[in-house]
Amino acid sequence: MRGFSNKILKINARDMTFEIETMPDRLLETTLGGKGLATHLLLAHNPPKVDPLGPQNNLILALGPVTGTRIWGSCRHAVFTKSPQTGYYSESYSGGKAAEYMSTAGFDAVMVNGASAAPIWLEVCNEKVFFHLADDLWGLDTFQTEDRVKAWIKENRPEAKNCGVLVVGPAGENGVSFSVIENDYWRSAGRTGAGAVMGSKKIKAMAFWGDRKKELADPELVKAFANRLAKSAKENPGVKAYKSLGTPMMVDIMSHVGSFPTRYWRKGTAEHRERINAAALHERLAVQPHACLRCFIACGRLGTVKEGRHEGLRIEGPEYETIYAFGGLCEVDSIEEIAHLNDVCDRLGIDTISAGNLVALTIEASIQKKVDYAIEYGQVDRIAELLEDIAYRRGLGQILARGIKHAAEEFGLSDQAIHVKGLEPAGYDPRVLKGMGLAYGTSDRGACHLRTTFYKPELSKMIDPDQVEGKAEMLAEWEDRLTIFDALVLCRFYRDLYQWEELAEMIKGTTGLILDKESMRKIAGKIANDTRTFNLREGLTVQDDMLPRRFFTEPLPETGKIISEDQMRQLLANYYRARGWDEHGRPPDYRA
Ligand code: SF4
Repeated sequence: MRGFSNKILKINARDMTFEIETMPDRLLETTLGGKGLATHLLLAHNPPKVDPLGPQNNLILALGPVTGTRIWGSCRHAVFTKSPQTGYYSESYSGGKAAEYMSTAGFDAVMVNGASAAPIWLEVCNEKVFFHLADDLWGLDTFQTEDRVKAWIKENRPEAKNCGVLVVGPAGENGVSFSVIENDYWRSAGRTGAGAVMGSKKIKAMAFWGDRKKELADPELVKAFANRLAKSAKENPGVKAYKSLGTPMMVDIMSHVGSFPTRYWRKGTAEHRERINAAALHERLAVQPHACLRCFIACGRLGTVKEGRHEGLRIEGPEYETIYAFGGLCEVDSIEEIAHLNDVCDRLGIDTISAGNLVALTIEASIQKKVDYAIEYGQVDRIAELLEDIAYRRGLGQILARGIKHAAEEFGLSDQAIHVKGLEPAGYDPRVLKGMGLAYGTSDRGACHLRTTFYKPELSKMIDPDQVEGKAEMLAEWEDRLTIFDALVLCRFYRDLYQWEELAEMIKGTTGLILDKESMRKIAGKIANDTRTFNLREGLTVQDDMLPRRFFTEPLPETGKIISEDQMRQLLANYYRARGWDEHGRPPDYRA
């Protein structure tokens, strides 16, 4: 089928063998690739209740029909597995440049099963795989690993013009449940711990290169579509805002509505906001907008710290979510210090949102004398030390490495820990943005902000943040459109530019399929049913869709806002109905 390589690569890491399967058109037509395809593969090949860090858990990398084309926002790859952090469905996406090279290797998906006895790295190129021993890479940080693998390819593969490299850091090697798979230094498939799964297979890195090109249904249409969009989006206010301020602009926006989670979810604003917002970032670091390939928005901030103890530190970031996690929850009151903690996490290969939440929980445990560990809000060096301990599973790090559910139980703080299904929320407080409460509750991977990005319609007053009636139906439609983004594997920040019509046009230009909104929603609905089936199979119940109790019982001090348990139950019931699920949140064809 056009728009695809039509091939899936199946790697057995234990035997160091691989096979290539040609995919039937029907499978690609009904899933559209990316998330749709990978979820189908996970359901078919992952044994229910498999140990996430056991050899039988599959690690799947997937691309979409737009990958490697001129379509804006298309240089992105996706990773799927069963999460060691939550025990449920895991998905994560990353930008940068790697997807471009993954596409030239000749596959739409790479599925890794088994575990190697010794550390290895994989070279995937032109429909072949080479298995290399990685004794010399094991133990290195993510940046060193990427540099070494790229240097090896440059020296030994002169025919490879360039390559994309995915790596894990020490945290992934050590099975830390929220380890990331990193690429291009600062980009990562960050949430739900896919890095630990890759580490459990003893795979330190995967390099991709090649010269394979996909055939498109209508290359002229794709070209005209991309040109037209670039012109028409120039003056778009959202595009301009992301380009000039990046995601750190959200610090002020969220603070303005009292929804910037602070002091481990006790407050909705930080007194030191002006030292950690976008203005502070642009003042304290020398910053340039930085883009993934095939992107004109350039939301990334590539910056260098100008002075102080981190002078010269170069980083793409920190993004809003990292600022919220360390600057809000842990009350670190300087943007340079947040950049430093971001750098520590990147090198170790851990997710900054989970890391910030776990550190803040530990600070609470220390203050409440639930743990014999001295750490206070804002203590940057103690936080950095704890992050290292987590990555190397030393002392208290051993407990935190297993994730928030386990840590909270160990601390006797299960009633205070903030998470859904074992995944901590992003920086949007659901007491203010009630749709985000529903988004956190129903996302297939736990408290995720990206499956619906429902903060967008609530903040822009497309729907009142306090409204309950009609919200679930609107959220389901947003989720469906963004599920198509995830099947095609597109960047979220193009969400205002790619409505249903634009999605239909790019699908037509790449694959030749003629789809309208209704048929796309049908495909998205099937993907939602499949991810739900995966989770139900792993033991999920409706109780797992509920928010942590503190959101129901602890009003935010600045606004007095709360989301009631009744409101959440109502939102969930409406959502299940909108999805066509029963009152137990089960899709119609689900069989226990
Ligand atoms: S908007 Fe940001 S994340 Fe999205 S493709 Fe562009 S640079 Fe990458």
